[in-house]
Amino acid sequence: MKIPLLDLKAQYATIKDEIDAAVAEVFASQMFIMGAKVTECEKAVAAYSDCSFAVGVSSGTDALLVSLMAENIGKGDEVITTPYSFFASVGSIVRAGARPVFVDIDPQTYTINVNEIEEKITERTKAIIPVHLFGQMADMPPILALAEKHGLVIIEDAAQAIGSEDCGKRAGSLGQYGCFSFFPSKNLGAAGDAGMVVTNDHKRTKILASLRNHGSEIKYYHQLVGGNFRLDALQAAVVSVKLSYLDRWTAARQENARRYDRLFNQSGLVENELVLTPHTRATRHIFNQYNIRAFRRDELCQYLRENEIGHEVYYPVPLHLQDCFSYLGYGEGDFPHSETAAKETLALPVYPEMTSIQQEQVVSTIAEFYAAT
Ligand SMILES: *Cc1c(COP(=O)(O)O)cnc(C)c1O
Repeated sequence: MKIPLLDLKAQYATIKDEIDAAVAEVFASQMFIMGAKVTECEKAVAAYSDCSFAVGVSSGTDALLVSLMAENIGKGDEVITTPYSFFASVGSIVRAGARPVFVDIDPQTYTINVNEIEEKITERTKAIIPVHLFGQMADMPPILALAEKHGLVIIEDAAQAIGSEDCGKRAGSLGQYGCFSFFPSKNLGAAGDAGMVVTNDHKRTKILASLRNHGSEIKYYHQLVGGNFRLDALQAAVVSVKLSYLDRWTAARQENARRYDRLFNQSGLVENELVLTPHTRATRHIFNQYNIRAFRRDELCQYLRENEIGHEVYYPVPLHLQDCFSYLGYGEGDFPHSETAAKETLALPVYPEMTSIQQEQVVSTIAEFYAAT
């Protein structure tokens, strides 16, 4: 039986009527730019994230970029983040004109190692972008304390972590900015590209709202130079429908993760150190990815491919080793935990509609690979 990494068709089948009706409503109105659907979606996502305000934008990438722009971060400034993330976490810093400064990850959680941040802070440092990778929040209290001490802005990259929680706080609600992506493969996915910035700051909300619309509050009068970073009404309508299902989907992902943990333990693979299951530190991990570490990972990938089991390597090349960032002067060995993770980690299907039989098949196929070699 073929098992996909993610089954959006299965998800759509369960909510088709509601999605189709919401989309039809937008078509009937022919109001595609801004309007009630966007405002409604912003209110719902802000409330879901324990934030006062939200500004819908065109993607998670643009959420990061517009947050940096709202702080006037650019040439001569430094922004601290990790090299083990999706490209956009760092690409947005460079596009804003600033210099990314890397801090290695904690090898257990894949989030920023909070003990190595302070030594990287200089008088040019303006912000920290903690990435809540795979659905688990970074260890925020020490990061907030450092930001307070050094007068830095926190922009949470919560693209993979909507609804995740730690110490009673939701992802996106702790920093000055929380950035979400509604890319279709995220836990709350649109029908294309979309994103949002959440914040508790009224002044920042006004600036973000202006910047996403060419820096203009009144049409054809521009206070700032922004861009076209607007959230489409169609995407907002889809996201609003899906948001009401998100807690159910999250619960299913969490249950699938626990079942994998159990199956891997029972299989002996963990005991024999062939597979390492994910470590949960934060109080609410939403499992955007269930990421194992696997011995002889690349050969295992090949075996899974042959057996038609969906999987993905997030991410094969840490960002400090990307060609386009070679000018930063980093090299192999500079961030050993990120480099090792890039060689060892492997994401397995954990989507909500997955069955226990499918999960058993994933684990038994992995066990077969190690038994045969
Ligand atoms: C997906 C993602 C982004 C970018 O979001 P897009 O909507 O694809 O632009 C940024 N950061 C992280 C960690 C992501 O996973």
